[in-house]
Amino acid sequence: MNAVVVELLAAIALVALASLSGWIAAGASGAELMAFFALGLFFLRQLWMVLRLTRWARSPLGTPTPSAHGAWGVIFDLLHRRGRMASAEREQATLELDRFRRAAEALPDGVMILDGHRAIEWMNLQAEACLGLKASIDTGSRITHLLREPEFLTYLDDPDHRGLPLELRTQRNPGRCLQVQAVPFAAGRILLLVRDVTQLQMLATMRRDFVANVSHELKTPLTVTLGFVETALDALEDTPPKEIAQYLQTAAEQAQRMQQLINDLLTLSSLETDSPPPLEDPVDVTTLLADIRQEIEALSAGRHQIQLENQGPRELLGSARELRSAFANLAGNAVRYNPEGTEIVLRWGAEVTGGARFSVKDSGIGIAKQHLPRLTERFYRVDRGRSRDDGGTGLGLAIVKHVLERHQAVLQIESELGQGSCFSAVFPPHRLQS
Ligand code: ADP
Repeated sequence: MNAVVVELLAAIALVALASLSGWIAAGASGAELMAFFALGLFFLRQLWMVLRLTRWARSPLGTPTPSAHGAWGVIFDLLHRRGRMASAEREQATLELDRFRRAAEALPDGVMILDGHRAIEWMNLQAEACLGLKASIDTGSRITHLLREPEFLTYLDDPDHRGLPLELRTQRNPGRCLQVQAVPFAAGRILLLVRDVTQLQMLATMRRDFVANVSHELKTPLTVTLGFVETALDALEDTPPKEIAQYLQTAAEQAQRMQQLINDLLTLSSLETDSPPPLEDPVDVTTLLADIRQEIEALSAGRHQIQLENQGPRELLGSARELRSAFANLAGNAVRYNPEGTEIVLRWGAEVTGGARFSVKDSGIGIAKQHLPRLTERFYRVDRGRSRDDGGTGLGLAIVKHVLERHQAVLQIESELGQGSCFSAVFPPHRLQS
């Protein structure tokens, strides 16, 4: 029984006893008895209110305050107001904490909070994915027990390194390159930021390779051109003009190669940076195929047997210039890389899926399996020397792939060494018009 209840019961007993003894003794006047009785009741009410207040104070948060009249009513109202203000503040704080958590969850980078002992207090989904951890299992565990790579342990232990990023490859997420940054904050805690930089690393490598490739591709024709021009200059006085003209002719051919390379590079770069072509430009496929056939017949000069089969939709929607360059590239390769007598069939036909396919099939030399996945890489050639001699830059199929991607089409390559090849461009139904 609590103290207030005991006090209340004692007061009731006291008032009852006093009233009874006054009544029995009848020594007190009626008015005195009444006043005494009223005082007792007043006292009782105060104790009753204190009891209600105590009960309310013990009840769960949010319980409405008791109702009462007079001074107690005012006190309860004030308490009610304070309670409301406190719960509004609590709600606001919960809301802000929730918002902060959701913002941290939505961050594209991983975020983890470590306590003073390096135990995980919290982490977002990205941190889980990057580090191969699970918040439901690993929260509370020391990060140093989960990620045991020596460079990471040294990094965390060294206050000089913290704040600077560390590149980390962890066994928990093989094949990925992570950038980790530890930022110390309140009371020995550490905010660990994690970012997957695998893609960036690959891009940096590609960029380096690209620059090396371009320099290499330009270096050879430039050296040859310079060599012939210098020889022609040195021999100008005592060499017959016919020989000089030969030197200059070779130099001009090499210059043309460089020009072709630069043109292809510019084409690739504009394909990569421009937005995809709109649908409104209808390209007449019959005319396009006839032009391409004429072009490769000129290139072949009668050495190949060229056929054209056109049973597909009448119009393709997209960029006439880009489609022409892609189709001509595929058809031109069939002539340039295959020997005399090779049969080449250009075919345009509808697909069962509702799309359409442009294919260039040849009965030529074919390509060994191991080269197929790499054919569309920039500067990739099956036979380097041969491709260069034929004026190839190694960028042709990279350009074709880009053009097709911009038209939501795909490039399919089937080839077998010694059996010939088939290069196809498959277009989706929304790019066609009958
Ligand atoms: P390039 O611009 O030098 O012609 P491509 O990117 O167009 O280079 O082609 C890449 C390589 O694919 C070429 O070096 C060639 O060896 C091979 N190739 C392309 N088409 C054919 C084909 N029809 N038959 C045999 N090899 C081909």
